[in-house]
Amino acid sequence: MNKKLQVELEGKSYPIFFEKNLFQQKNFYEECLTYASSFVLITHTSLVQKIAMPLLKHWKKQKISSLLLSFPPGEKYKTRKTKEYLENQMLLASVSRESAILSLGGGVVSDLAGFIAATYKRSMPLIHLPTTLLGMIDASIGGKVGVNTSFGKNTIGAFYQPKAVFIDPSFLRSLPCEEFLSGLVEMVKCTLIADPKLFSILEENKEEILAQGNLLEKMIFACIEVKKKIVEEDETDRSVRQLLGLGHTLGHAIELSLGYRISHGNAIYLGIIGEAYLSMRKKILCQESFERICALFQHYGMVFPSVSLSKKKILAALFLNKKKDGDTLFFPLLKDIGYPFVNSSGFVHKVEKKEIEEMIDFIMCNVWENSLCSLPS
Ligand code: NAD
Repeated sequence: MNKKLQVELEGKSYPIFFEKNLFQQKNFYEECLTYASSFVLITHTSLVQKIAMPLLKHWKKQKISSLLLSFPPGEKYKTRKTKEYLENQMLLASVSRESAILSLGGGVVSDLAGFIAATYKRSMPLIHLPTTLLGMIDASIGGKVGVNTSFGKNTIGAFYQPKAVFIDPSFLRSLPCEEFLSGLVEMVKCTLIADPKLFSILEENKEEILAQGNLLEKMIFACIEVKKKIVEEDETDRSVRQLLGLGHTLGHAIELSLGYRISHGNAIYLGIIGEAYLSMRKKILCQESFERICALFQHYGMVFPSVSLSKKKILAALFLNKKKDGDTLFFPLLKDIGYPFVNSSGFVHKVEKKEIEEMIDFIMCNVWENSLCSLPS
C-alpha cells in the first residue's frame, strides 16, 4: 500500500491504508483476505453500479463468497428499521460471524454497517471503504457506529472499531459537489480544533482543494492524523474527543428539527458558525477570528436549500440532547482558530438557555439570510 497509519488502541489497533485506484491493487484484495474469507458488502443502491462493480467482479472471479446488500441513500434510512432489514437478509443467507462486513459509502453506510457488525451474532469483523470526504476524514475512523431515532441523531449505537480502513481519494471523483462541500465542513472543523496552519491552507488554496489534487490528499491525511490522535487518547468520548463535536450539538438539532431535509454538512456548517458565535459572545474568541471562520465558509460558496428554520423546534431538539443538564447545555468552544477552549472544567462548557436562544437567533437572522458577517453590536 502507498501510505499507512496505525490507530493504536489497546487490543484493537488497526491500520488505515492510503491507496489510489484501490480496486486495481492486488494487495488490497490480499489484505482483506487476512480478516475473513467471505464478505458482506453493505452499500447504497446508487453506489453498486457506480463504485462497487470491480470489487464484486473480482470476488466472483476468485470464487470468494460474498453477499451484496444495499439500501437507498439518505440520512432518513440510518434507522433501526434498515438495520433490521439488512440483518434479516444476512440471517436468511446464513452469514456466519466469521465473514467480514465491508462498508462502502459515506458516513450513513459506515455508521449503519458498523453497528450491524458490532451486534450481528455478537460481533463480526468490519472493514470500512469510505467513499465521501466526510467518511474518509471522520466517520470511518474511531469506531462510533449507530443509527438515528425520533429522539435524535445517533441515539442508539456502540463503539466498535474496524479491522481496517482503506482510503482511496479517487472515489471522490464521482461525489456530487454538495457532498464534497459537506465533507469540507468537517475538514474546517478539524482545522479549527487542531491546527491554524491547516486552516490557512484552506483559506489560501481554494482552487487546488476544489480541483481535488495533491493538496487535498495531504489535507485528508492531516485530518485523519488529527482524528487518530484524538481517538487514541479518548476512545469513548469522555474528554478530548468531545472537541470533535464542535458544531454538532447545534448541527444535529437543526438536522432533527428539519427532518433531515438538509445535508449533514450544511447542518454542521450552521452548527460551527453558531458555536463559534457563542464563543465570541462569551468573549473567548475574538471577533476577527469569528469573521475569518464565516468568511472561509463563504469563500467556498456554502449554499443552503430554502427551508425555514423553527427556533422552537431547534430548541426542542437541543434539549432532547444527551448532554443536557437542567436549563443548560454543554458545548465545545473555541479560543482561537486552531485552539479549542479547554479549562479546569474540561473540553465542553456549560451554556445557559438564554445564550443558546441568542445563538439560534443569530443563525436564523444572519446565516440563513446569507449575510454571514453582519454582527450584532
Ligand atoms: P452520506 O453517507 O449520506 O453520503 C452522501 C451521499 O453521497 C449519499 O447519497 C451517497 O450515496 C453518496 N455518495 C457516497 N459516496 C459517493 C461517491 N463516491 N460518488 C457519488 N455519490 C456518493 O453522507 P456523509 O456526509 O458521508 O455522512 C454523513 C453521516 O456520517 C451522518 O449520518 C453522520 O452522523 C455520520 N458521521 C459519523 C461519524 C462517526 O464518527 N461515526 C462522524 C461524522 C459523521
